[in-house]
Amino acid sequence: MAIPKQVKCPACKKVGDWFATKYGPFCSHRCTLIDLGKWFNGENSISEPLRPEHFAEYENLVENEKLDRPENS
Ligand SMILES: [Zn+2]
Repeated sequence: MAIPKQVKCPACKKVGDWFATKYGPFCSHRCTLIDLGKWFNGENSISEPLRPEHFAEYENLVENEKLDRPENS
């Protein structure tokens, strides 16, 4: 007999054998919708939070581009 795999619902963190349901790994249809809502809100679209250094890096790239293309051409 297969041992039920206990998983944590990604939406509500409730633990149970959610893969046994058609909504796995979510515990309920409601939780699949909650997670879908997160995607639409862009919460999961960025792999890491934006930090000031990301913008600093971008500024450096722009700076290099300016050096490669002098305005007095
Ligand atoms: Zn849930």
